[in-house]
Amino acid sequence: MTKQIRLRSLLKQDEIYRQWFMKPAVITIFHSSAPWRLYVQAEESGPWARGDTRSYAKAYTGVKLRLPDAHDMAIHSKAQRFRPPVIKVAGRRMYSPMPEGHDWCELCRRPTVFKRFRKHAAIGFVDPEELRCTICGIRKEALTKYPRSAMSWPAK
Ligand SMILES: [Zn+2]
Repeated sequence: MTKQIRLRSLLKQDEIYRQWFMKPAVITIFHSSAPWRLYVQAEESGPWARGDTRSYAKAYTGVKLRLPDAHDMAIHSKAQRFRPPVIKVAGRRMYSPMPEGHDWCELCRRPTVFKRFRKHAAIGFVDPEELRCTICGIRKEALTKYPRSAMSWPAK
């Protein structure tokens, strides 16, 4: 089973993702509740804490503050889906490659490991046959299937 890459390593090793993550994300679907959820896993294999916020900048500041200590994190979008970063290679646009064993979660806005759960911390008891995002619990089936990049991760 693939060990999920930590946000810290992702930002350090994947320059394309780092730049994409640093750019303030724009929400175009409006709801009455806060659109952003900061997920923080303080320790490896520990529980994921979460806090909701109205602004991406606030969530981003939360990430920056916790980056040295927290085991893993995500700035999750509660309703609006985001595509992976796009790169241009030899004049062609393609999705940025993911680390091995990871898939893009359109809500966690990062590569995550999808696994089978009986009980998922974020949503409770679930169908154990379905693959779900480790962080937010969304079903893999419910997400857009992006073509695998021909490039290996991280793209340079
Ligand atoms: Zn997710």
